[in-house]
Amino acid sequence: MYRQIIKEIKKYDTIIIARHIGVDPDAMCSQLALRDSLRIKYPQKSIYAVGNGSAKFSGIGILDKPEILHDFLLIVLDTPDKKRIDFAKVEEASMIIKIDHHPFVEELGTLEYIDDTKGSTCEILMDFIKKMHLPVNREIAKTLYCGLISDSNRFLYDTTTSSTFELVSYYLKRYPFVLSDVYKDLYLRPIKEVRLQGYIEENLTLTEKGVAYIKLTNEDIVRFKADSASAGNMINHFNFIEEVLVWVIATEDIKNGNIRINIRSRGPIINHVAEKYHGGGHAFASGARVSCFEEADLLIQDLNSVCDDYIKVCENNENKVQ
Ligand code: AMP
Repeated sequence: MYRQIIKEIKKYDTIIIARHIGVDPDAMCSQLALRDSLRIKYPQKSIYAVGNGSAKFSGIGILDKPEILHDFLLIVLDTPDKKRIDFAKVEEASMIIKIDHHPFVEELGTLEYIDDTKGSTCEILMDFIKKMHLPVNREIAKTLYCGLISDSNRFLYDTTTSSTFELVSYYLKRYPFVLSDVYKDLYLRPIKEVRLQGYIEENLTLTEKGVAYIKLTNEDIVRFKADSASAGNMINHFNFIEEVLVWVIATEDIKNGNIRINIRSRGPIINHVAEKYHGGGHAFASGARVSCFEEADLLIQDLNSVCDDYIKVCENNENKVQ
């Protein structure tokens, strides 16, 4: 499949690399790294990484705003479905290739490389670039590592395997980038965000079945001088709390007129609940947009039932062992 992808890339003079709306580091790093590697390999081609950026991730790199496009290849990274592609001209593409680590949702392109056992799209690209002998430099290696680190939450999840470490070792050995530069781009944050995190920690509600949640209104966000995305971006900070199996941040987004939902789990599978509320994601990391806090309450109730079932299955298994 890697060879087929390269064969198609060779055919087109113009290549657009897109990813999902609501940019995050893995999505952005994967498109920048692939763009920069292909630009070195094929200097005569016009290759662009597109989509809305975010001030928070501006240290990672700069996206492009191509004007007139015709007969272009669209490579969609880190995005399982059409409605979430952050690019308006999907229908105009001559061909679409998808490379993704989300569970399959729908077919986008003629060529799809999906591996949902991988923790990040950047990890897939590390393998692709290595095996296809595409050019790499320190900046590209650093960008790939940044995306991998972000989605794997610094090797925290079981999607991290020996081959993840082998790939990281391969790139670090050949293109020695400075690790602390990566962490500065990813983790440096203003104190107002830390204070908002403190507020969330103080005010999490915990259900009997282990769902912790907070509902943040626009007033809360304004009070902490934050933006509607910053609370949700903290969702990974609430792992490993003994009483909590699943946790949710529901943030009012007045710009889009809806509620942004971020969900994480350390056991129960949650993406089918997110899908029920027009969202999606991975088994243990999902998101959605709902119309109001009442709908968020229904989603939380569903997550509570999922936790209840999970606890029963765990208890059953324990009894069988005894
Ligand atoms: P987040 O909590 O924003 O980091 O997202 C976690 C995972 O859920 C990512 O894989 C996202 O692509 C997915 N996700 C987040 N929001 C949505 C949404 N509104 N619809 C579908 N998938 C989503």
